[in-house]
Amino acid sequence: MSKINIKKINDFFTYRNDFLHIEDVSIMDISKTIKTPFYVYSTSSLKKRYIDLSYSLKKIRHSLYFSVKSNSNLAVLRVLSLLGSGMDVVSAGEYLRAKKVGVCGDKIVFSGVGKTYDEIKIALANGIRQFNVESIPEITLINKIAVELGTIAPISIRVNPDVDAQTHEKIMTGKSENKFGIPINSTLGIYEKASKLSNIKVVGIDVHIGSQITDLTPFETAFIKIAKLVGQIREKGHSIDRVDIGGGLGISYSSSKRDPISTDNFAIMLTKIFKDMNVEIQIEPGRFISGNSGLLITSVVYLKEGQNKNFLIIDAGMNDLVRPAMYDAEHEFLTIKDNLNDNNKILVDIVGPICESSDVFLKNKKLPKLASGDYLAIYSAGAYGAVMSSEYNSRPLIPELLVHENLVSVVRSRPKIEDVIKRDQIPYWLR
Ligand SMILES: *Cc1c(COP(=O)(O)O)cnc(C)c1O
Repeated sequence: MSKINIKKINDFFTYRNDFLHIEDVSIMDISKTIKTPFYVYSTSSLKKRYIDLSYSLKKIRHSLYFSVKSNSNLAVLRVLSLLGSGMDVVSAGEYLRAKKVGVCGDKIVFSGVGKTYDEIKIALANGIRQFNVESIPEITLINKIAVELGTIAPISIRVNPDVDAQTHEKIMTGKSENKFGIPINSTLGIYEKASKLSNIKVVGIDVHIGSQITDLTPFETAFIKIAKLVGQIREKGHSIDRVDIGGGLGISYSSSKRDPISTDNFAIMLTKIFKDMNVEIQIEPGRFISGNSGLLITSVVYLKEGQNKNFLIIDAGMNDLVRPAMYDAEHEFLTIKDNLNDNNKILVDIVGPICESSDVFLKNKKLPKLASGDYLAIYSAGAYGAVMSSEYNSRPLIPELLVHENLVSVVRSRPKIEDVIKRDQIPYWLR
């Protein structure tokens, strides 16, 4: 057999004889049967990210709840549930997805500021580990529904520690001006009041200060406040066994850079703060597990060479991946054929086809001169990608694929445009 020339991008994305592979599958081969754009995820990567994090936390009494909102595809959830992961959900829809892949209610935590009557009822009736509650009216409503169902609702109080997570303002959640959580100085009082309600059991406190956090300091600042609060709760004679520290571990959006925070250092920090507290640490990672486990595969529609600028117009748009438009995110682009060493490079703005000026992926990127039909892979597209996509411009949602070693499966198919249009109805008085 001839020798395969391998160049690593990360553990599961490699160039083999110059062609990009996800695990053992060539992206070029997939693209022959599935039209771009599409998402593709690596099973091994999802598993490794989960296992690496659990391994770093092994000396800490902990449990892990994958944040379903980062990637809610049933196949992705199934991979993680088979490893024993719990799920962190923020809607009844996500709750039902978690149940569908076999996660027991006692491994599901329900977060979010606006849980409705129906959502609380579904979760309470089918089993829930805890509601992470964010307001007094929410606690009152949960108690009322628990009375109706003749059950006890476990709740954990989400604290807003007023800490700046030093991340993009749209994913910062732990400052006092953010809508999330209960101000830390009123938590104790609310903990006491909630404990007195007939059908509520307060099981712990919870904090989530934001997403894509790239430095340990904000975590540390928040957790020190939380540990102090645990002490105060106990001094008042209340029991508390769980501290949910939320998600937010940042990732590297560059294939050549390591994660900004090492999970070992994260574990050391947690141990330092919580070691004598005898609490179970619950963690809700999303992006850390799914982010770098997925690619968005796209192809060039046109290279539009202008007087001042060249535009590489691709077939994926902000409706498929909104992070650049919404969070100013810069995703790395990889060519499917490793020809980045070509001398014939030009400067381009990579843009989508959507009729919005914000539909821009990267500005002033040096790329080999590509032509219509050439494929590209957008890196770090596994989290907050497919889940945030829309049908804006009447573009059907794009497919999602899952790879496992040399196997590929479509785990969400592309709807037919006729079916998308058929969902609308013209009222009888306009016919
Ligand atoms: C979004 C969210 C998470 C996950 O955040 P990541 O940055 O993806 O890890 C965890 N917990 C809560 C409450 C969230 O809202």
